[in-house]
Amino acid sequence: MIKRTEITVEIERLLIVRRNGRKSLRAFCEFCQNETEMLSADRAALVAQCSSRAIFGWVALGWLHFTETDEGLLLICRNSLGDLLQTK
Ligand SMILES: [Zn+2]
Repeated sequence: MIKRTEITVEIERLLIVRRNGRKSLRAFCEFCQNETEMLSADRAALVAQCSSRAIFGWVALGWLHFTETDEGLLLICRNSLGDLLQTK
């Protein structure tokens, strides 16, 4: 009898394409399926004129696209932030 084992491996991908100044960078957003500008949570808070805590809350609610760097740093998709601010 032949025994078959299937192993599924999920790989999270963060492709940093290039730095755009020092405060933001462009990366692949898996939600937009495109390369977008990514902001740090603090930078996103400045853009949205709200607290960093609000940004983390919106991420938790799924209102913002995000990714994490290998170091665990949260990056926010600027497209999704722009969309959210328009509907706010
Ligand atoms: Zn996005």
